[in-house]
Amino acid sequence: METVKTLGVVGAGTMGAGIAQLAARNNIHVLLYDNQTDAVKSGLAKIRQRLTRALDREQISRSDMERTMDNIEESSLEKFRDAEVVIEAVVEVMEVKKSVFRQLSDLVAPSTILATNTSSFSITELAGVTQRPESVIGMHFFNPAPVMKLVELVRGEDTADRTVEFAQHLAAQMNKETVVVRKDTPGFIVNRILMPLFIEAMRILEEGVATQEDIDKAVKLGLNHPMGPLTLADFTGLDVDLEVMDYLYNEFHDDRFAAPQVLRRLVRAGHVGKKSGRGFYHYAPK
Ligand code: NAD
Repeated sequence: METVKTLGVVGAGTMGAGIAQLAARNNIHVLLYDNQTDAVKSGLAKIRQRLTRALDREQISRSDMERTMDNIEESSLEKFRDAEVVIEAVVEVMEVKKSVFRQLSDLVAPSTILATNTSSFSITELAGVTQRPESVIGMHFFNPAPVMKLVELVRGEDTADRTVEFAQHLAAQMNKETVVVRKDTPGFIVNRILMPLFIEAMRILEEGVATQEDIDKAVKLGLNHPMGPLTLADFTGLDVDLEVMDYLYNEFHDDRFAAPQVLRRLVRAGHVGKKSGRGFYHYAPK
């Protein structure tokens, strides 16, 4: 398969900017589009900030940094005609994603692969609004995209083998490891394993069986995880965790995914983890 030369990224937020940085660093020309004024400029500023930090730590050279920045172009959606592949990374709202996919399907060449970075939605449903469901695939990157090694590749019902091969090839070009999720199921692999882990850690805390420090220490040292589940839950955002649990619970009707009360209480109080400055690490069970 040929090396990918041009990638379109829709959405210049946390994930879109991260994916753009990753691709550009790996010599792919990136067309970056966002529908909010200044979102691309703000994404580019964040990328420059991260690269400057890497330069200061002598992890990259100045020419690496400039080459990476030069590889990213602020773009209109119309320019995506030139891209071999597009990765959609807009907000997690089905109707917004569908409207982006409809636009892309009308605009780009029939051979262009359309990927979505959705954390939860059905690839089949998104692919259904396009005229090329065989070329649509989930490419689920993890945050921060330039650092995290894994990309989950998610097949929709109609995704063609060549689309999966293309996505594997693209991920390899960006130095990522992939796993293939063969069925379009909620939570894919990682969140389906992670949410029950979070839930059990929260229940152990809620029952007063151990402190949050000891729960995290047990998992870190006993299971060799780099981060304890309660720290990780704070880090990913308790509001996001709750949304994912509720989504999985509604899809599977299975108590494995039932969110603990303690999590709901924290989120209702606006204590959503690292980004709010309060989460499990300021919570003491009464
Ligand atoms: P974000 O809110 O940081 O960025 C979303 C961007 O999309 C914003 O800049 C917004 O202006 C833009 N946007 C919205 N509607 C648009 C449209 N119609 N056209 C173009 N741009 C539009 O969100 P994020 O955290 O980067 O998440 C993006 C996607 O990645 C979501 O599907 C999310 O579930 C998924 N995801 C997020 C993470 C994470 O940890 N943040 C991890 C994996 C996957």
